[in-house]
Amino acid sequence: MLRQKPKIVIIGAGIAGLTAAKTLYTTTQKNSNELFDLCVVEGGNRIGGRILTSEFNGDQIELGATWIHGIEGNPIHKIAQEFNSCQSEKPWECKESKLIDKSVTITEDGYQVNSSLVESISIFYNKMLEFCSGQQNFQDGVCRQILESLNLENGSTKNLSIGSYLKKGLDFFWDLKKDQENVQVFDNWSRKSLEEGVFAMFENIHRHYSSADDLGTLDFNGESEYCNFHGGEMTIAKGYLSVIKSLASVLPDGLIQLC
Ligand SMILES: Cc1cc2nc3c(=O)[nH]c(=O)nc-3n(C[C@H](O)[C@H](O)[C@H](O)COP(=O)(O)OP(=O)(O)OC[C@H]3O[C@@H](n4cnc5c(N)ncnc54)[C@H](O)[C@@H]3O)c2cc1C
Repeated sequence: MLRQKPKIVIIGAGIAGLTAAKTLYTTTQKNSNELFDLCVVEGGNRIGGRILTSEFNGDQIELGATWIHGIEGNPIHKIAQEFNSCQSEKPWECKESKLIDKSVTITEDGYQVNSSLVESISIFYNKMLEFCSGQQNFQDGVCRQILESLNLENGSTKNLSIGSYLKKGLDFFWDLKKDQENVQVFDNWSRKSLEEGVFAMFENIHRHYSSADDLGTLDFNGESEYCNFHGGEMTIAKGYLSVIKSLASVLPDGLIQLC
């Protein structure tokens, strides 16, 4: 009796799908008698997903992913190097992951927010995030008090979102400052509304980094699963798409099926 070969179908020809396909293909199929049928099914009409390098006025531009965020131990950097994608005659960019010392925060109506106000929220906000990423205890348990005040079922953070946690955190921030008067600082801005605006600015930065449209949909417990790679940040000299093309080039014709 002929036994049917198992089929493995990878959905999506973005960098994740193609890396999985390349790994499966090179570590099993190539050197064995084809243990299974493998294919990548892509819903779009091109490979790459959120990676697309294009050209504008003779220059290479990235329409999707651009940076390798931290090169040390970063698998994208490893893959890009494996395919020589980081070497090119064309210019490429590299930046050290240092924040600019003298950043200024300006409201939409032109008021330059006092740096000490921004700093106090920044410190509070970052410590809140460090707490949920498991990095440290905060201010003798302020974050624990925040969690307790959320009246979680059985005290479990299972269904808690980052959005609700941060929202409650802002109330606690104001509670810590309840002795300070809520003075009018500029036109329509009171101290409290400025603090709220700066807090929202940090939340928006987090939405950008986490690709979450709404922080209410971001899992509190998932925060500890992120890891940051160290080392400088760099672009891929031959273009991010060169990595995609190289990954796909390892696979035999017809293995990737486009729509
Ligand atoms: C504008 C922009 C800038 C970015 N900048 C950076 C950056 O600088 N550095 C960085 O590291 N990351 C950046 N990212 C994020 C990065 O692009 C993504 O994390 C990465 O490309 C995701 O790869 P993926 O394979 O997981 O998913 P995707 O690239 O989204 O690929 C998924 C593929 O699956 C296909 N698909 C989905 N559903 C189905 C289905 N049901 N059937 C068949 N096919 C399906 C899609 O068409 C798509 O091709 C950026 C993203 C964007 C949009």
